[in-house]
Amino acid sequence: MANVESFDLDHTKVHAPYVRLAGLKRTPHGDAISKYDLRLLQPNAGAIEPAAIHTLEHLLAGYLRDHLEHVVDVSPMGCRTGMYMAVIGEPDEAGVLQAFESALSDVAAHDRPIPGVSELECGNYRDHDLDAARQHARDALSQGLKVQQTILLER
Ligand SMILES: [Zn+2]
Repeated sequence: MANVESFDLDHTKVHAPYVRLAGLKRTPHGDAISKYDLRLLQPNAGAIEPAAIHTLEHLLAGYLRDHLEHVVDVSPMGCRTGMYMAVIGEPDEAGVLQAFESALSDVAAHDRPIPGVSELECGNYRDHDLDAARQHARDALSQGLKVQQTILLER
């Protein structure tokens, strides 16, 4: 199997919540695509409930794009401790940190219907929890987000 960079991260040595540059790729035309690890919970110390991370996905998809240009994708991690974000270019980590904080503040304050929640727009539209999503955003903000360096596993 191809090597997967996230399997090289020592998940016991990071301190969530954080933003981390997880990878950088160059297209054949030389454009950069950066992948960020936006971690809300400490790995292996809990997980965001499926309905809550689904709502976070819907809200962060819009709010991160409000605060950061050239976002390609924001997707939940299967381990449910955070999100991955792909972005064109090489935004600096401090800028990504600021954008994530601003987007989480928007999530914490979100008191309208969740965007994209209907049978037409979503693959599991009944599975949402806005209150829990807002609580996770508040928790991360109150704990204080930082830039996390990648600490590789020693193999
Ligand atoms: Zn959905």
